[in-house]
Amino acid sequence: MEETMIQTDKLSALGIMASSFAHEVNNPLATINVYAEDLIDRIQAGDEDLDEDEMEHYLRKIKENTERCKRITGNLLNFSRKNDWTEDHIHVREIIENSISLVEHQLKKRRIQLELHVDETLPAVNGDGLKLMQVIVNLINNAVDAMEPEGRLVVSASGSNGELVSIKVTDSGHGIPAEAMDKLFDPFFTTKPIGKGTGLGLSVCYGIIQQFGGNIIIDSKPSDGTTVEIQLPAESSLKAERDLEPGPMPAERP
Ligand code: ADP
Repeated sequence: MEETMIQTDKLSALGIMASSFAHEVNNPLATINVYAEDLIDRIQAGDEDLDEDEMEHYLRKIKENTERCKRITGNLLNFSRKNDWTEDHIHVREIIENSISLVEHQLKKRRIQLELHVDETLPAVNGDGLKLMQVIVNLINNAVDAMEPEGRLVVSASGSNGELVSIKVTDSGHGIPAEAMDKLFDPFFTTKPIGKGTGLGLSVCYGIIQQFGGNIIIDSKPSDGTTVEIQLPAESSLKAERDLEPGPMPAERP
């Protein structure tokens, strides 16, 4: 009975996802269609007012909307690529440093002050290192989007108890209103302007962190900034758990 319920929940979640996806992709597709049709009509009618600047304007609009579709489908592929997963021995410091180097240029451009605090001894974790990097970059990008230039970003990692590694991304941005907190992990929930957000970032992060066997916790107050914490089970705690599992029963003698 319970299994049927879970299956039904999954199916209805898939239905909601499919219809939101269709809706999200249909808007930019309709815009592409309008611009392309209008351009073809004007070319066929021999419109003499159609100069190079105007043609470029049409093509730019088509490109912008194509890129939006590409971002949406690209993010969506992450949901279905659950099997595309490598099991690495991850040094969290290295992953954080690599993630930061990917966004460094953007931080400099926005004059955002970065503080990095990583515990000297941090337990290793197991999972896909590139996917963890994708999560951290996503969280930093969200933090940057929420901040005015000259904001303050703190990235920290600790794991003193040896069981969990906690990675926190804290910003001094505009924060999240209470009514949005429940929707943050919903696919396509975004408060960003069209062309900027797809609303898939946090739901993809959630899926990845679940595969790590971890958690994401978001703490935010409007106008007081946001902290997103990822908790990952340390490699040693997973090993200890496996060692505790009962082994195969000894075969009975005839
Ligand atoms: P997107 O970034 O495309 O909007 P996400 O799923 O990554 O999609 O985020 C969903 C929404 O959560 C954002 O549109 C924003 O409203 C809110 N959000 C996420 N991170 C932060 C943050 N650090 N500060 C304020 N709001 C945030």
